[in-house]
Amino acid sequence: MTMTLPYQEPLVPREPGERQIPEPPRRGEPGGPPCGICSGKTTKAVWSDDKWTLHPPVGGSLPGAVWLASREHVDSFSDLPEPLAVDFGRVAGRVEKAMLTALDDVARVHLYRWGDGGSHFHVWFVPRPLGMLEATGMMLPLWEDVLPNVPDEELEAAAKRIAAAM
Ligand SMILES: [Zn+2]
Repeated sequence: MTMTLPYQEPLVPREPGERQIPEPPRRGEPGGPPCGICSGKTTKAVWSDDKWTLHPPVGGSLPGAVWLASREHVDSFSDLPEPLAVDFGRVAGRVEKAMLTALDDVARVHLYRWGDGGSHFHVWFVPRPLGMLEATGMMLPLWEDVLPNVPDEELEAAAKRIAAAM
């Protein structure tokens, strides 16, 4: 088994649509909706320190997925003040280790930073299930989307186990 799309073939490539320039404002940008993280509209943090907060998702299929946000509202890596940028490696390592310790059957922890929805720095940590080789690499987010969601309580409980191992 190798990296495989979670859809049956044949899939038909489609042409990209018209480009939207300028792009619509994201959450937390001028003209866009308010920042969900700064306004407390997200899930409550299960772990935090003076620089970072760690949150469970809602509507997900992989218990143990979490996202880490900076306390400060900055956009991307290049906007992080240097002490935060330096500290990111330390805290990312702690989250990864806690996930591998607290969760069963995790082969590897994937990190994703997209930033297309909200303008507040946050990075996803997603556990790739042990032995699920079809979900390696870029296929994991697609599998995560296609697999049936688990209850939000289950996602929160897994995130709390990670928090306890931090
Ligand atoms: Zn914000």
